Amino acid sequence: MLQTNVKEYRNYINSEWTAGANSETFESINPADTTDILGKFPASTAVEIEQAISSAQAAFKEWAATSPSKRAAILNKAADLLEERADEIGEELTREEGKIITAAKGEVKRSAQTLRYYAVEGLSFTGETFPNDDPNMDVYTEREPLGVVSVITPWNFPISIPARKIAPALMTGNTVVFKPSSDTPLTAYRFVEALDEAGIPKGVINFVTGKSSQVGDSLVTHPAIRAVTFTGSTGAGEDIHRKASLTTRTQMELGGKNPLIVMDDADLDHAAQLAVNGGFSLTGQACTGTSRVIVMKSMVEAFQEKLIEKTEALTIANGLKEGTKIGPLANQKQLDNVLNYINIGKEEGAELVYGGERLAGADYDNGYFVEPAIFTNVTPNMRIAQEEIFGPVIAIIAAEDYEEAIQIANDVEYGLAASIVTNDIKQAKRFTKDIEAGTVKVNRTTTGNLINAPFGGLKKSSTSTFRESGRVGMEFFTQIKTVYIGHS
Ligand code: NAD
Repeated sequence: MLQTNVKEYRNYINSEWTAGANSETFESINPADTTDILGKFPASTAVEIEQAISSAQAAFKEWAATSPSKRAAILNKAADLLEERADEIGEELTREEGKIITAAKGEVKRSAQTLRYYAVEGLSFTGETFPNDDPNMDVYTEREPLGVVSVITPWNFPISIPARKIAPALMTGNTVVFKPSSDTPLTAYRFVEALDEAGIPKGVINFVTGKSSQVGDSLVTHPAIRAVTFTGSTGAGEDIHRKASLTTRTQMELGGKNPLIVMDDADLDHAAQLAVNGGFSLTGQACTGTSRVIVMKSMVEAFQEKLIEKTEALTIANGLKEGTKIGPLANQKQLDNVLNYINIGKEEGAELVYGGERLAGADYDNGYFVEPAIFTNVTPNMRIAQEEIFGPVIAIIAAEDYEEAIQIANDVEYGLAASIVTNDIKQAKRFTKDIEAGTVKVNRTTTGNLINAPFGGLKKSSTSTFRESGRVGMEFFTQIKTVYIGHS
């Protein structure tokens, strides 16, 4: 049944909720049930981006001079509001992005924690002092905010990724123009709404929805933009990085092709569980998701059996339903892409030993549901072993020994996350050195990272200059001045 009375949401510019300059809108649609429309949002253009940037520019001086404790109080108040609304926003997040409800509520709470974390860490984020031979001179560095920063985010963590970018940007005194993914504008809107209600001053945060083809370039190339923090696909990240001028900093958090290596001393049950959790939870739509499992040759069959057994037990359904472990893919493009890669795998000669079909039936017909897919007999040069699929597809690759496993693991253009399953501490330590990845784990899933530890990738998974999360997450948003004060 066609939905009527769909609510229209607005941009947030200079503390006002405003409609777009033209009357065009786009819809946010539930990927588990495409008849469910969450809202309409302005299909903005460069005009609204210009307004948002002007508003952020006008607000910058005063916000940069606002005391850290005042900034922290606003972040903490917004965190209180998000925590109070975690159930409500979590439900919307599941309806908008598809992930299961426990994960969605957890994501909202994590976003509140991120605001609180930076509200504390920002109070002691400072420069250094330098000893020198002149007793009448002090030398120290000061950290200053950059100015107006663009925040561009994907749909897969529609509130926690904005939080881990916006919280450090604001806490260090920058003003923000935020453009969320057009698949998940409502969840992003809730984050901005919380900051608004927490009393963020006029112009400090601005929120503009719209297609990247309409608003993307202005967010990157406008001369007032001092930095662009972006999370998304490697292709888009490369495009933005190329377009940014010399005076615009970029932080690009991009794709991955993350390996889990299973050594011959591994507990196979544990290893299979790590693969299932890393590869199939969040419907495989995590940048750090496990997409390659590199298993010692002698154990491939036994591992495969365990993996299939655990995968069969996963309930695939609308993420709002209790007991669901795998929700839908996030949109039609994702569904087409995943099904296309499953075909590519078959054509390349890999053996599809489990799943890979689009699901049909009353519970599935209106959504983008696909069975998780497990391929064996995958060779390292196949496209399904090289390219990011960003869906619930695991490629099992056999390796003769550790040396071959590490060579396979590193032989891709990405370097985001990687893990090894072993009880041999020497082997594990060696792995942490040999692997080309920004997030390296032992006996844990490739997915998941702490708020208080740095996060980012190597090779084509990130710009290598600045990390997100943790204290270093604030470095991107500040510049250093070195001060010499002679006092006699
Ligand atoms: P995407 O690149 O299509 O879009 C991400 C955001 O960028 C969206 O808001 C989009 O509108 C905007 N955008 C796209 N092209 C742009 C351009 N040329 N100029 C300006 N803005 C542009 O990615 P997606 O489909 O939303 O997300 C999935 C991708 O995100 C995957 O590749 C995944 O690996 C990656 N990802 C990376 C991380 C990480 O931390 N490394 C985390 C989550 C997701």
